[in-house]
Amino acid sequence: MADISSLSQMRRFFDSGVTRPYAFRKQQLLAFKSALNKYEKEIYEALYADLKKVPEESWFTENGLLMQEINYALKNLREWMQPERAGTNLINLPSSSYLYPSPKGVVLVIGPWNFPLQLLLIPVAGAIAAGNCVVVKPSEFAPATGAVIEKIIGEIFSNEYVMVVQGDGAAVVPTMMSNFRFDHVFYTGSIPVGKAIYQLAAKDLVPVTLELGGKDPCVVESDANLRVAAKRIALGKFSNAGQMCVSPDYLLVHSSVKDKLLNYLKEYTQKFYGENPAETYGYDKIINEKRFDRLISYLNQGRIVFGGKHDREKLFISPTIIDELSPEAPVMQEEIFGPILPVFTFSSKEEALSLINRHPDPLSFYVFTGSKKKEEEWLSAVQFGAGCVNNTAMQFTNHHLPFGGVGQSGIGAYHGKNSFDVFTHRKSVMKTPTWFDPAIKYPPLKGKLKLLKFFIK
Ligand code: NAD
Repeated sequence: MADISSLSQMRRFFDSGVTRPYAFRKQQLLAFKSALNKYEKEIYEALYADLKKVPEESWFTENGLLMQEINYALKNLREWMQPERAGTNLINLPSSSYLYPSPKGVVLVIGPWNFPLQLLLIPVAGAIAAGNCVVVKPSEFAPATGAVIEKIIGEIFSNEYVMVVQGDGAAVVPTMMSNFRFDHVFYTGSIPVGKAIYQLAAKDLVPVTLELGGKDPCVVESDANLRVAAKRIALGKFSNAGQMCVSPDYLLVHSSVKDKLLNYLKEYTQKFYGENPAETYGYDKIINEKRFDRLISYLNQGRIVFGGKHDREKLFISPTIIDELSPEAPVMQEEIFGPILPVFTFSSKEEALSLINRHPDPLSFYVFTGSKKKEEEWLSAVQFGAGCVNNTAMQFTNHHLPFGGVGQSGIGAYHGKNSFDVFTHRKSVMKTPTWFDPAIKYPPLKGKLKLLKFFIK
């Protein structure tokens, strides 16, 4: 655990100003990148041990995404660090105005187990680019990945600059946050823990980014390209065995196309994961027995359309679709976070919205339609963090789009330039020349109302 003296040492390191120059930040990002290359094989082995992820999938969803973010930061860092010119209003002319990006200080980044590498290290890369010192807390539920992360960070960064803290989050994080004031806390994980962290942060007015979850709806309209929809829903739902915050949680399909869509879904799921997904290269496992048991309890809450096979010893649950279930069923009261897709039908948008609105503010929302008009209607009718039209989950992989939730699904957003911004304070600065100093703003103000109304309106 990070004791108070090592955190105070970090504070001193930050205060020394070492982390601020462009050259330092660039050097750290380059070191980070080369360590990711050097330990690529160990990263794959760890992700396989924790979640049965294969290298191709890992590159697509873990170290590749992280590399993309680091490369993007390296390419743009100099520009991001420049003071930005802002406008100046009439009363203040001829002053000039600027925003000075400045690192927040010593920050804490806490990651979950489902993408245990990138969900932790993409924010860390952002914090480094922004010139901060970072305490990194991997999830204890993905221990192999946590160990590689500790090895990499221990090798390339000094302890007073970036430090890994392992252990039971419920013990380690509150202890650290009670004894040390971080300048920002970035948390990815469940809503209840997010709330606990928000409360801990409130005590010291610590700003937070909370990347949480929710029940992400996926709507398929009658005019959708059903083959493409089925492919993209199967990929978004069954990748990482559905343990993705951006997976479609449940499906709302127009009643006129339900049977056709389900047939295609079955066809593509078999194509992707084979007749026996337990043995398929690239089909992941459930993280642990506790999660496995929870997921299995959902299976008898509706009719299994396909899938439903499971093996506790292998932590395996096959891609599963269930229908004929009640919106009141327990599976519809919490985020599923596994390879089980409940299906509901609708005949009007209002009907679909009434189900969606039982769980306000999802992290993601997906709609499949061939109509521009319907697309716009859906995008405006549902409040959500980030989503797709005619796709699922891929919004996460585009670093040009800020990623984050809204309402119950989170606070703040990151990726690309936003990852730099999260860990940056912009100092607003007005520079006023001394050669011009009109009397209007100085007392006595008597008789100046008309003039003031001219300048301030
Ligand atoms: P979790 O909340 O159990 O754990 C996440 C991290 O929090 C771990 O590092 C853990 O050690 C730490 N932690 C646990 N209890 C803590 C406490 N009391 N105080 C402080 N820290 C604590 O979450 P999880 O089960 O790992 O992740 C699943 C959830 O995360 C799902 O709801 C999912 O939707 C969400 N999620 C969101 C995103 C996103 O980007 N928005 C990404 C992945 C997962």
